[in-house]
Amino acid sequence: MFLNTYFTKTILTSLNASILSSPIEYLKGVGPQRAMILRKELDIDTFRDLLELYPYRHLDKSRVSLISDISASTEFILVAGSLGTFQILGEGRSRRLIATLKDTSGILQLIWFQGISWIEKNLRPGFRYRAYGKIGFFNGEAQMTHPELEGFDEIKDNTSLLQPIYPSTEKLKARFLGGRQIAKLTQQLLSQLKEQDIPEFIPNDIRQKNGLISRFRAFQWIHFPDTPDSYNKALIRLKFEELFLNQVRTGMIKTQRQKQSRGVIFNHVGRLFNDFYSNILPFELTSAQKRVLKEIRQDTATGHQMNRLLQGDVGSGKTMVALLAMLLAADNGFQSCLIAPTEILSNQHTNNISELLESLPIKVRMLTGSVKSVRRREVLKELDQGDIQILIGTHAILEDPVVFRNLGLAIIDEQHRFGVAQRARIWTKSIIPPHILVMTATPIPRTLAMTAYNDLDYSVIDELPPGRQPVRTVQRYEYNRPKVMDFIKTEIKKGRQAYVIFPLIEESEKLDYENLMKGYENLKAYFPEQAYYISMVHGRQKPEIREINMKRFVSGDTQIMVATTVIEVGVHISNATVMVIESAEKFGLSQLHQLRGRVGRGSEQSYCILVTSNKIGIEAKERLRIMCETNDGFRIAEKDMELRGPGDIAGTRQSGLLDFKLADIVRDRDILQKAVQSARELLEKDPELNLPEQIELRQQLKYEKGKTPWSRIS
Ligand code: ADP
Ligand code: MG
Repeated sequence: MFLNTYFTKTILTSLNASILSSPIEYLKGVGPQRAMILRKELDIDTFRDLLELYPYRHLDKSRVSLISDISASTEFILVAGSLGTFQILGEGRSRRLIATLKDTSGILQLIWFQGISWIEKNLRPGFRYRAYGKIGFFNGEAQMTHPELEGFDEIKDNTSLLQPIYPSTEKLKARFLGGRQIAKLTQQLLSQLKEQDIPEFIPNDIRQKNGLISRFRAFQWIHFPDTPDSYNKALIRLKFEELFLNQVRTGMIKTQRQKQSRGVIFNHVGRLFNDFYSNILPFELTSAQKRVLKEIRQDTATGHQMNRLLQGDVGSGKTMVALLAMLLAADNGFQSCLIAPTEILSNQHTNNISELLESLPIKVRMLTGSVKSVRRREVLKELDQGDIQILIGTHAILEDPVVFRNLGLAIIDEQHRFGVAQRARIWTKSIIPPHILVMTATPIPRTLAMTAYNDLDYSVIDELPPGRQPVRTVQRYEYNRPKVMDFIKTEIKKGRQAYVIFPLIEESEKLDYENLMKGYENLKAYFPEQAYYISMVHGRQKPEIREINMKRFVSGDTQIMVATTVIEVGVHISNATVMVIESAEKFGLSQLHQLRGRVGRGSEQSYCILVTSNKIGIEAKERLRIMCETNDGFRIAEKDMELRGPGDIAGTRQSGLLDFKLADIVRDRDILQKAVQSARELLEKDPELNLPEQIELRQQLKYEKGKTPWSRIS
């Protein structure tokens, strides 16, 4: 098969023998120990990976705030002043070092729990320092925990005042690999690289037309810009690059597919489908569901391979469409698989679908990472022999030992970042590439979805099943939290369950965690044990513990689920009627909408309460207003697009379907349009990139990381 070998080659070879593929331990200042930690914590394996670890943003050291500017809504801030004397308080784990920083406007408390003796030895009271860090409040008083301090004279005239802020974890910090050290390593790496180490692959005319700086420059400026404008230029260049590569790649695939690919043929509707449809299906399909099903049937009967994106708001009934499509496959003698992002969701799908299909002669099995040894071998064997018609599971399904007898259809549910490479992996699971249906509830305006996923056909379920009660959404300020708690209590008394969600800021794992724990303690005070039970899930837990906590909530043993946004997409707990989102002003619209989709799945009235700090900005206010006003995912998507201007670079990255590092197809839609246009023009001239001047572009397309970004999903 031409296509299969094309893809296998693209994915498996990493031809690039440049300095960028050097293992990270070879960088000066790294060595084997640190390399191990960098690999484990940040997935940094080579020089290139470090180069592509982009800063979240830059701290503008020329913009020092006054201590009196600190308010309840202040997060990270840079202040400068003279350091007061040290004081050590507490014993054991609460032992801490306290100091003050005084400027012309006021005094700020600085606190350290770790590294106390080092700080005592190295910092000098009476001297002037800049302090950067996150503001927290204790008994109403602002304080900065573990600030980054820098003496005034340490800033030389010729160093950039824009300091990159990198992701870091506590483990990294403990090994002296915090944000600042990462910056040093990156600087070291950049000083070693020459222009030819980062070759240009975007054709000159395209670069000129779109005003893009060179690749080499872009990498320097994305990390160490001399001005905010340089940073923006770097950002635009690299975002364009991502989108352009994706467009070229998918454009080529599309052409080849149209020319070459055979698809398995589902040409008749048989007993399984009909029996299910007329005797088991517990409700009438909505007309949108019927339309999509028809589109799928048409696609799969043509002899071409189907590649379809199905977009439908949370609760619109995508699963039923998936199930009917799998029955269609089975009727035509083919196996199918349904891939979900998490174990819990796989379990839920397996239980629901097995139950629905109980009376039919069809075998449904599940395969996830936790299906072990004997059971696993049995599933693999039955799959290979063709005894299993429907396999449901996590990305464990994509692993090599999983061999199908005749996979005809693969459905991907709620999978963020399911890019070209993952789809290609599915293709290798069958001689003739199976039909592919990617389902998502991510609210992206449809025109944009169609542009970004140009190799996919597009279907939409734009209608909710009848009788759904829209979730009632309100905004409440922090000072009203007691009332919110009382409300949760009344709902629990009625036998319902509630979610309480805390934000992930990503910038400091530790602060996120502390925030969550504080919230949890706070809730426990309102909901004491014996009378109430609370589940908690967050990213720091072992998967087993997370699973147990989740299960207890699913089964109703706990009434409240406290979680960060790691909480599963698509999980269906119809008894949960309250969704409380803490610090709601920090979330983007589409994320708020997705979170809200966890409730409103049963027949009872559900509520979403957006708790915000007492003071919020105008844009946040607008987002919250829209959330309170509508439940319509597509309207929200449109609004999201209006509100998120291309210039706004801070904030939570939206989880999209594609694995872009920098680009966001909503925010960067202007760049996307240009990339689409440029890729199209290029491929019209040179559809297979055979011209000699495209050698660098060809190389770049071949380079594809062996590792998939799965680890970031759950
Ligand atoms: P999502 O699109 O978010 O994956 P689901 O497939 O989980 O939504 O469906 C949500 C709920 O709606 C499920 O309980 C499902 O059984 C129900 N449902 C799906 N289609 C219909 C329909 N046509 N009429 C009534 N209920 C439906
Ligand atoms: Mg779903």
